[in-house]
Amino acid sequence: MIFETHAHYDDEAFDRDRDELLKTMHAHGIEKIINVGASLEGVKDTADLMERYPFVYGAVGIHPDEVGSLTEEDMKWLRSLCDREKTVAVGEIGLDYYWDKENHDVQKKWFVRQMDLAKETGLPIIVHSRDAAKDTLDVMKAERADNLKGVIHCYSYSKEHAREYMNMGYYLGVGGVVTFKNGKRLKEVVEYAPLDYLLLETDAPYLAPEPYRGKRNCSLYLTYVAQTIAQIKGASYEEVVEVTRRNAERLFGI
Ligand SMILES: [Zn+2]
Repeated sequence: MIFETHAHYDDEAFDRDRDELLKTMHAHGIEKIINVGASLEGVKDTADLMERYPFVYGAVGIHPDEVGSLTEEDMKWLRSLCDREKTVAVGEIGLDYYWDKENHDVQKKWFVRQMDLAKETGLPIIVHSRDAAKDTLDVMKAERADNLKGVIHCYSYSKEHAREYMNMGYYLGVGGVVTFKNGKRLKEVVEYAPLDYLLLETDAPYLAPEPYRGKRNCSLYLTYVAQTIAQIKGASYEEVVEVTRRNAERLFGI
């Protein structure tokens, strides 16, 4: 069964039918889901979702677009949530120079500060990095992130960078973009990287794969992502699902 490593079911896009949708997951082959917090509100909702659904686990962290008003008090609160049994990662944390909502030094400061939470708790990190390839790698190297475990979510950089991350022991998160006609660079990375380093993720409600591109995404569409990876790698669909599930279980300890 499929392990969905990155979704945002707390998003308002699911307000209409969240419960119905989540209840259909098992019947459609989705075994486990990590709901990823991105804001303080999102982390709170993530904690609620993981209490409510046995197959939903949580990642707690603040997305770089949302770090502007963070305080040390907030860090204490996040730290306390890290101790919950179903919290399996710190994330999503990182740098985003595409939306560029916060000053780069501020983004770096909170990226480092949240990596500290992972160091303190032994949890893996879920890294968000957009248009910030060099700085993300530089910050992670300076912080000895090779001593942590984690995933570069929605991987969007080159093969060379992928090699650097894999050398540090990191996984690459692959989602709907791999099915896009203009997803050539990611297809090359998927061809290059061993299956042992890939994780399946949606980033739902965003980045729905073909043939649903532009629509609301959800974990049920991971079948299209797994099929595309299977084609690229000349593997069977079952093998892609099985190996990525084992990868996720190893990384997140569940
Ligand atoms: Zn996300």
